[in-house]
Amino acid sequence: MGQVINFKGETKMDNCQRCGSKRVLGYSAKADDRQSWILGEADGEGYLPGDFNIGAGDYIEFDFCMDCGQIQGQFPLPETEFEETNKEKAAE
Ligand SMILES: [Zn+2]
Repeated sequence: MGQVINFKGETKMDNCQRCGSKRVLGYSAKADDRQSWILGEADGEGYLPGDFNIGAGDYIEFDFCMDCGQIQGQFPLPETEFEETNKEKAAE
């Protein structure tokens, strides 16, 4: 079997930040502006906001532990622009 290099140029994922498992899946998809999401009572569609920590713009990209379910990254995320925007709408 040849060496696999993913879209980020990585040849191997780090172990899971939560449980240490090696079964971390690096996932990527190009979805252009055909994306949608729900957060609390608000929903959105279009290009993926970068501050959701699952990619940005055209691309959905995240590293996911297949043992414990943890998406790799820094948590908790700070308030997103989407939340900030929809908070202002709700207050009107
Ligand atoms: Zn894990």
